Amino acid sequence: MSDASCIFCRIGKGEIPSMKVFEDDATLAFLDINPLAEGHLLIIPKVHRERLEEMSPDEVAAVTRHLPRLGRAVMAATGAQAYNVLQNNGAAAQQSVGHVHFHIIPRREGDSLGYRWPAGSYPAGRGEELRKAVIAALGA
Ligand code: AMP
Ligand code: ZN
Repeated sequence: MSDASCIFCRIGKGEIPSMKVFEDDATLAFLDINPLAEGHLLIIPKVHRERLEEMSPDEVAAVTRHLPRLGRAVMAATGAQAYNVLQNNGAAAQQSVGHVHFHIIPRREGDSLGYRWPAGSYPAGRGEELRKAVIAALGA
């Protein structure tokens, strides 16, 4: 259930200190040690899962049910008007800690945060091909 070499498992068990803001049987929320903005939170399952798709629906629900309340609390505590929820899976998606975590990143008008979003479009037929491929994969 937990991995002795995983820093977030160790934080979840209280073996390594964290700036904890919330905890229940399945979940821990704490301040990110290197915040993108003041109040940047991480929310983790206590069970060790490296990536989101390895989690059961119930495990995901046990963690994500707290996001609305944590989002409200971070805005109230920081005065931020907005926030991003970010959850990275895999090195190509910038995941650096191999234990599922959801970021809540407070945002303000004019802050210097952002990401590249080079939106494209599908050539004729490609969207339909992909739609069918995803539907087939869902059935697998
Ligand atoms: P990611 O790139 O999505 O894997 O994000 C990992 C996050 O974990 C980064 O934002 C780090 O600053 C944060 N982090 C790493 N170690 C700790 C720690 N001991 N306590 C709090 N946050 C941490
Ligand atoms: Zn872990």
